[in-house]
Amino acid sequence: MSYKSIDTALIHGGISTDERTGAVNVPIYQTSTFKQDGLGKMRGYEYSRTGNPTREALEALIAELEGGEAGFAFASGLAAETAVLSLLHSGDRVLISSNVYGGTFRLLDQVFDHFNINYTISDTEDPASFERDITDDVKAVLIESPANPLMTITDIKAVADIAHKHGLLVIVDNTFMTPYLQRPLSLGADIVVHSATKYLGGHSDVVAGLAVVKTRELADKIAFIQNSTGGVLAPFDSFLLIRGIKTLGVRLDRHVSNALTAAKHLKDHPAVRSVHYPGLETDKGYEVNKRQAKNGGVMISFELKDGYDINTFFESLELITLAESLGGVESLVCHPSSMTHASIPEDIRKKVGITDGLIRLSIGIEDISDILEDLDRAIAASEVK
Ligand SMILES: *Cc1c(COP(=O)(O)O)cnc(C)c1O
Repeated sequence: MSYKSIDTALIHGGISTDERTGAVNVPIYQTSTFKQDGLGKMRGYEYSRTGNPTREALEALIAELEGGEAGFAFASGLAAETAVLSLLHSGDRVLISSNVYGGTFRLLDQVFDHFNINYTISDTEDPASFERDITDDVKAVLIESPANPLMTITDIKAVADIAHKHGLLVIVDNTFMTPYLQRPLSLGADIVVHSATKYLGGHSDVVAGLAVVKTRELADKIAFIQNSTGGVLAPFDSFLLIRGIKTLGVRLDRHVSNALTAAKHLKDHPAVRSVHYPGLETDKGYEVNKRQAKNGGVMISFELKDGYDINTFFESLELITLAESLGGVESLVCHPSSMTHASIPEDIRKKVGITDGLIRLSIGIEDISDILEDLDRAIAASEVK
């Protein structure tokens, strides 16, 4: 059964109850293997790497939410990306958005590189420039929109249309938006990947990755790779994700309204030089984002003017926690150039605009006045007298 509204599907989508007992939550099937009733007589499961009922419930859920043919759950976002990129062969090249997640860059730059699978950083923000980067060896494009830390927006449909004209596979990392705010398959993507560690989990208590594919052919290939490479999500972590996803809608509504208020507040702040948030009408990506997503999402980055010391800023925050990651109910802050994006070489960071003064915020669902007060206090304390 599929539901008209994603709000309902978040709670009842996929396989949401236990057929046998009527339990309203899918149990944690903490088992590695399954009894066979005779040679070749399986009851649907044989070994938990290949398939586990708790993981399967999660996989069915994310497939329904993204509107795909099948979903796959992995031990991390990078494990999901590794499986998806394993569709490529030696000699192939993938184009990547210029602000991709640092770990995605490192995976291609230092691991897939060993297998002669290459990448080119492409300005997917500008579809014409993206098209010029398509050489004969290019077989796929990996897009993030918004891509952090500058929250750059790619017109997913425009890029997917061009990519398909050239026979490329279109992969979108939808971590920052989730299917609640943006559904890339409906915009033309072939595969969606997630670091479910972030908003889908939502409570900073599980590391997980998901992939959703559009076609049966891709589903068969990813199922084979998932089982062959083995980076699967454990039953308990699958349960945690299902539990997190149930409240995704209410959490995100609050996250987004807090983020919009914080972005406006920072934009009007005399100590702030620039704010990057696609939910602001003045933002470069505002119009395109508005066409393809429900709103501007939650992630904000900003720079303080000269005369403010960012070390003191970070150390003066009392509520907002300095940490890697994002997407939890608590507000987090990070310094992209030394943390999340440190694996990108300095010259490339400079080129794409990830300056040492850039601050990234993942706005939580606390009371917004407490969040603003914390920001204002830390900004005031960081002024160099
Ligand atoms: C965190 C993140 C990843 C990597 O996911 P892990 O779960 O940490 O492996 C990939 N893409 C984006 C956009 C992320 O934020």
